[in-house]
This record gives sequence, C-alpha cells and structure tokens, in this order.
Amino acid sequence: MSKRKRNPICPYCGSPAVLRPDSFVHKDAGRGRYLYVCSHYPECDAYVSANEKTREPMGTLANGDLRHKRIEAHRAFDQIWRHRIMSRANAYRWLREKYGLREDQAHIACFSDYICDDLIRECQKALRANRIAS
Ligand SMILES: [Zn+2]
Repeated sequence: MSKRKRNPICPYCGSPAVLRPDSFVHKDAGRGRYLYVCSHYPECDAYVSANEKTREPMGTLANGDLRHKRIEAHRAFDQIWRHRIMSRANAYRWLREKYGLREDQAHIACFSDYICDDLIRECQKALRANRIAS
C-alpha cells in the first residue's frame, strides 16, 4: 500500500486537486516538476508544488494572491537569517513559537493570507530594529 495521502482538496472551491506536470500551468516552462492543481483550473486558479521525490504536496493550494503573498513572506523571513539577525535554525524556532506550530507545520507554503501579512510585518520590524532596509 502506498503511504501517500489522498489528493488535497482545493480550499477555495472544495474540488479535489489533481497531480499535473508544471507545463499544465506554466505553458512555456516545462520544468519537469509536478503541481497539485485544482480540478476546476483555470476557472479556479489554485495550485501547490509537489515534492520532486515523494510527490507529496509541499503546502496547501493557493490562488494567485496567496502565492504572491507567500513568496513575499518567504523573502522577508529569509532576510532575517541572511542578515544574521538570528541563525536560520533560530529563525525557524521563532516562527514556530510565534504561531504555535509543530515542525511539520512551520512551512510558509502552508501559511494563510493572515499569517503571511503578520509575518511580513514582524520581519520588517526586526529588519528596521537592526537598521537593515527591507
Ligand atoms: Zn478550486
């Protein structure tokens, strides 16, 4: 028996997501990777990357706005350890403690709109306190 869980459900429209090659969404860029795409795509523009080896979803399905926000949140968060305000390990510990997450939940690819906004604000605050322009 495969240990893989059922395909994720789209949080926007409730349809099951389907594993597709990324060329299904990025017409010009077949990168040989896979995505879980909402079965109502393109009417419902929600998807998430699959792990290259295990094909597990890397987070929860996100629409364009949330995908963009997660990228922004990741960029802000990465600045914290890149500028050595904290070590990378400590930055992830801070993230887990701040939002009460287990290790397997502390992935920005799983974060909601609200948490992304909050994380961006908190990271900008830390960068400003350390006199680093974000
Ligand atoms: Zn959907």
